[in-house]
Amino acid sequence: MNINPVLVLAPIFLTTELLSLALCMVLASLRSSGLPGVRQWLLANVAVVVYLPLLGLRDIIPDALSIVLANGMLALSAACYYAGCAHFLGQPPRWKYLLAGAALQVLAVVYWRYGFNSLPLRVMAVSAYAAVVCTATAWLMLRHYTGRRNSVHYRLLTGLSCLFAMAQIVRSIYFGMMQPEPTHIMLASGWNVVLLCIGAAIMPALSMAAVLMLHEALQTEAEEAANRDFMTGALSRKHLFATGQQFILQAAATRRPLTLLLIDLDHFKIINDTYGHAAGDEVLRAFADMVGEHLRGRDVLGRLGGEEFAVLLPDASVASAQLVAERLRLRAQQHQVVSSFGTCHYSISIGVAGWLGGESFDQLCQRADQALYQAKNSGRNRVHTSQAELALLPQSA
Ligand code: GH3
Ligand code: MG
Ligand code: MG
Repeated sequence: MNINPVLVLAPIFLTTELLSLALCMVLASLRSSGLPGVRQWLLANVAVVVYLPLLGLRDIIPDALSIVLANGMLALSAACYYAGCAHFLGQPPRWKYLLAGAALQVLAVVYWRYGFNSLPLRVMAVSAYAAVVCTATAWLMLRHYTGRRNSVHYRLLTGLSCLFAMAQIVRSIYFGMMQPEPTHIMLASGWNVVLLCIGAAIMPALSMAAVLMLHEALQTEAEEAANRDFMTGALSRKHLFATGQQFILQAAATRRPLTLLLIDLDHFKIINDTYGHAAGDEVLRAFADMVGEHLRGRDVLGRLGGEEFAVLLPDASVASAQLVAERLRLRAQQHQVVSSFGTCHYSISIGVAGWLGGESFDQLCQRADQALYQAKNSGRNRVHTSQAELALLPQSA
């Protein structure tokens, strides 16, 4: 049975056109997010929106538009999509190779239209370029994606890129092996319709995965902003407490130690009064950076408020936490903060408390706070450890 190609192709093209238009709107709305890749992904969809009507006007408008320009737009769309992924992942977009490949595809299309007119060979060339770009996209994701690898968008984007690469390879081979001059009707039959549907779904499906990826990035950014102190980059008070409670549960489950340092900058009011509030801010930032450089992988620094900070040291005994605290105290004492306001020196006092089984995070904080109070009372610029831990430490003979 012969199928009228217009009846088969029109619904596919129309659906893809509408989906691409919708994705253009979604991606345009995400432009203000400032996330990398959005512009290129938007362009990829705009190119599809232009491509489909050109293709649909075949035999109505000149072949230079409905064949050469249309397939050029398709190649541009694939190139832009890859570039979007590369930008998003912080990798070079490799425009030189992408555009060279696209130009080669356009040259092949021109040759197989005006040199030797063959629709199957043109489809072969177009599918080959799409296959290369899909493979490169899958490879890029596999190698350079740094987010959660079990997320839906990562699996979707990588999986679909592989699937589309395979479909385009099959399509390219299928058309390469055809008689070079088939009729339109043959093109609207059997496997070709399946391959055509897959081809039409490529850009909308990949773009949907890209949109999901953008949404996750925005969500992570929002969480980071909510969980961090804007000025110093340390954890916010709220998030530090949540982390502390979580660390206590882990310490209880693994029977590993957990230690808390409460740190307060000494006579900070004098720094503000002498150098100005902005200089005080510089000192707080420099202090947080300095502490960050001294911490191990799982240790966390939080800002409790004003010039008071906390450091959580999971897996650290009180004795080793005292060493860390002493190192930080010494480093702070030697630290020179150079800014446009002059060179500031500062010192810190630290209260150390180790978690005692069954204790809440609030209780642990209270004991560290008492130790800090004693460090302040005994002259500042010193480390003091909570009495409960001192009783537990091995006594020297
Ligand atoms: P102590 O040694 O007893 O801790 O004395 P101190 O002066 O550090 O403590 P006090 O609590 O008297 O003063 C804290 C000062 O820290 C007062 C406040 O203006 C300043 N401060 C709090 N937050 C900030 C901030 O974000 N930036 C700056 N520049 N100063 C801050
Ligand atoms: Mg202070
Ligand atoms: Mg204080």
